[in-house]
Amino acid sequence: MTRQLLILGGTGEARRLAERAIDEFGGRLGVTTSLAGRTAEPVPIAGTVRQGGFGGAVGLAAYLRDNRIDLLIDATHPFADQISRNAAEAANAMGVPRLAVVRPPWRRQPGDRWIEVADASAAAQSVRGLGRRVWLTLGTADIEAFAPLTDHWFLVRRVDPPPAPLPLRQAEILLARGPFALDDERRILREHRIEAMVSRASGGAATVAKIDAARDAGIPVVLIVRPPPPPEPTVPTVDAALAWLRVQLGA
Ligand code: NAP
Repeated sequence: MTRQLLILGGTGEARRLAERAIDEFGGRLGVTTSLAGRTAEPVPIAGTVRQGGFGGAVGLAAYLRDNRIDLLIDATHPFADQISRNAAEAANAMGVPRLAVVRPPWRRQPGDRWIEVADASAAAQSVRGLGRRVWLTLGTADIEAFAPLTDHWFLVRRVDPPPAPLPLRQAEILLARGPFALDDERRILREHRIEAMVSRASGGAATVAKIDAARDAGIPVVLIVRPPPPPEPTVPTVDAALAWLRVQLGA
């Protein structure tokens, strides 16, 4: 009998997991990846893809029931804490086994000049004294907090052009999709004469190059700390999520 897996995605881990689960379990497992629908042209994903919110934990529970989902893997971004809470609640309510893939946090290394802060407002306060040319590697919602810094110049990297002008007096938008190589990040720091960086402490390998580049250049990084991780069970890697799937499927 074919079992049904729902992956909550929007990350590289989710995309790799879908591909590897289909490779390994073939016709025994139907794989659907759910995207919030924030990116205009998402990178293609193996299996079925659905897009858009479910309507809270209650909506997700109804989706699990209506689509006869047997297994749920939450492979969303570490800062996507609302959907992770909904996933835990909906899976509990429906008795669907759930696993969360929580990518390993970055670890401070010698030479890192990190200033860890709770949120974007605290980041905007803390960046004031660090330099005028600031690279913001943040989502639109967090950028608003930097609007009062009218004397600063900001570099903002985006996958898609922002739908509305950024609320920043002096800013340049760089359109690019990760993962990013260390040499590219070094070049950006150099060419734009960046004096400080602001980032979420997302962790994982795909976006760590900017952190490495900042360390090499001696540039301070204001890091917004992660929200609490989803409830257990959690695993740090796609490999470990596949191992969990094998156990669940009796493979
Ligand atoms: P969030 O704050 O945790 O979620 C807000 C709402 O968006 C959820 O309540 C849900 O709406 C909907 N949603 C989120 N992820 C979804 C998914 N995978 N499938 C269907 N609906 C989803 O999430 P977020 O921080 O806005 O992130 C949205 C998506 O972007 C996630 O898939 C995440 O993995 C990805 N992403 C986020 C970041 C980041 O920095 N936060 C970075 C890279 C990728 P309903 O309540 O209506 O179901």
